[in-house]
Amino acid sequence: MPRYFLPSLAVTLAVLFAAPAVCEAQNYGVAKDLARKAVRAAEGKRPAEPEPQKPKRPSTKPTKAPPTDEQTPPEIEAPLRADIREGVAEMPLIDAHAHYGGEHPKTLAWMAQQNVKVLNICVGGRSERWRKQAELYRRCAEQHPDRYAWVTSFTLPDFKDPKYAEKVIEDLKRDFTDGAVGCKVWKSVGMFIKKPDGAHLQIDDPIFEPIFSWLEAEGHTLVVHVADPIGRWRPLDEKDPYYDLYKKTPRGQMYGREGVPSHGEILASRDRVIERHPKLRVVGCHLGSMEHDLGELAKRFDKYPNFAVDTSGLRRITALAAHDREKVRGFFIKYADRIMYGSDRHASGQLKMNEEELAESLGELKHAFCVGWDYYATDKVFMLKGHQCPGLALPPDVVKKIFYTTAKKWHPGL
Ligand SMILES: [Zn+2]
Repeated sequence: MPRYFLPSLAVTLAVLFAAPAVCEAQNYGVAKDLARKAVRAAEGKRPAEPEPQKPKRPSTKPTKAPPTDEQTPPEIEAPLRADIREGVAEMPLIDAHAHYGGEHPKTLAWMAQQNVKVLNICVGGRSERWRKQAELYRRCAEQHPDRYAWVTSFTLPDFKDPKYAEKVIEDLKRDFTDGAVGCKVWKSVGMFIKKPDGAHLQIDDPIFEPIFSWLEAEGHTLVVHVADPIGRWRPLDEKDPYYDLYKKTPRGQMYGREGVPSHGEILASRDRVIERHPKLRVVGCHLGSMEHDLGELAKRFDKYPNFAVDTSGLRRITALAAHDREKVRGFFIKYADRIMYGSDRHASGQLKMNEEELAESLGELKHAFCVGWDYYATDKVFMLKGHQCPGLALPPDVVKKIFYTTAKKWHPGL
């Protein structure tokens, strides 16, 4: 085990006993910040707010190599510092993939002070329940247009209604009139939903074609999350960056199951939609479920000018950190017009939260932005969910694309 991951025995025990449920938001800075919180919790005190620390200016030079396992990384900084970056407000920051219905005045004040905007994405399912989520996101965007925008979705087919696509298009017309800037399809298409003949419904199924043709003709963006990280189709491996997620959500594990589509088949189905609709802007969530192979993702970018991706989910950073850093850096520099930052953070019901709950809920958004900024814009080295992540220190013009320009281009109206 590397030396930097060994705090004193007393602190280790305090962490183990006082903070067994380590959420992603706390894990960054585990060696210092969480330990301090855990010790305070063991003493019966509320966790102290970490001291705000000034982020470093992003480096414009070619960057130094990250420390190897033999070297000790620099001290890890506290995650919930006051500001995402130095010189706030000059460049707006966009989170292009979230589910963050943060309506509390304190959340909005922080977003205004930091000059951030969040694109909330609906997740349509088989029932109309997702409409409640849509209503929250629509309201956030309507009441706080500088801080929020939203992407709608549609209810999945029951395969009995011959007018299914027509009805979906009617609903979409209303949602776009209500300010939506895109439409999302979720991974239940491809992985879970079955057709009456027992086959898995794929995104290139003819049932969706009129909907995609309509989106293309109207100039709207299609947001697609199909498949999952490749590890879902492989035996569980503790070294996989998503291991804890797979353990928590076994329903999504495809490995060893009979009759389920392969990862490649699902992505091929998505690629056929991109190909059939060359004027339809398609944004693939979570690096297009191809974070394990940036070469494959690069091939898609080269082949399909109408395809882009978001980086959503903090685990994506741990997955990227598993690759050679200079290769990842080169990839982001080359394809910065096709990659947009996303957090995948969730929030709802903030107006009913007590102070502590609100601090935690807002903390999640702050944390995601701070970690994202540190990874893409600085050369800090930090631990995230037990993985060492050396910041990419991308040049300022690339950082601007990833946190702002690319999202504006791929989601007109954002
Ligand atoms: Zn999401």
